[in-house]
Amino acid sequence: MDTSIDASFLAPRRCLREPVTELWDAAAVLDRATNAHLSGNREQAEVLLREANQPVVRSWTESLWGSARANPDQWRYLRRRPAADAPPYLPKPDRVPVRMPSAAERTEVLARYGRHCVFCGIPLIRAEVRSMFHRLYPEAAPWGTTNPSQHAGFQALWLQFDHVLPHCRGGDNSISNIVVTCAGCNFGRMSSTLEELGLIDPRTMPVSNNGWDGLERVLAVRTANAATTLNSLPPTAACAVMASGPAAPGPSTLDGAVHEPGAA
Ligand SMILES: [Zn+2]
Repeated sequence: MDTSIDASFLAPRRCLREPVTELWDAAAVLDRATNAHLSGNREQAEVLLREANQPVVRSWTESLWGSARANPDQWRYLRRRPAADAPPYLPKPDRVPVRMPSAAERTEVLARYGRHCVFCGIPLIRAEVRSMFHRLYPEAAPWGTTNPSQHAGFQALWLQFDHVLPHCRGGDNSISNIVVTCAGCNFGRMSSTLEELGLIDPRTMPVSNNGWDGLERVLAVRTANAATTLNSLPPTAACAVMASGPAAPGPSTLDGAVHEPGAA
């Protein structure tokens, strides 16, 4: 293995690893799957969901958050270096008590950065959207508790809220310290600072905005359908539904707080 390094190897960079084109392909296929679903063509939606579950997409994510032994080139992407005045790792009692921003603050962060990774630029999909596809198409959009059992496209394009200065290094949950990233960039960086990985501060970079909606339109339809159903019910029944609330708790939006990368 060639482990030599030179100045260019350690030059400032925008992301840990430049994304492969198949990531955009997967996003485009999932976009078509969404259109098929919304037009009532479930069979076509299922075919397209399966098409977006590509091994090459999973390999990209694994190269960043998987085990070093199974990903021999990972050291190239996670090339850490000593950084002057690096903030120390804090014991838990010394960290900011509230780790993640509120729902309103997350909405503000999304409005600021859109639904693209601020580092590598790939389009992103929130966990709520993926969960809906998983509920409707459990075979074509699998989402288990281990990395290999999760749909590769939804996994790679998984929208995360990431601390620029890591929480365990003194970072807080203010929106000035929170950015939108993909799973690979978030869990690949883990608790390293930007300086330790030679990353350019993404807050200084132009925001990518090409109209990608993160497939959120499927949730809009679900909400509209729920409202229609509610309005069609007799007043007494509608009140009962409203009082009982949702049938099951929704998925956590604090993605970075709940996922265990590298689980196998
Ligand atoms: Zn990324």
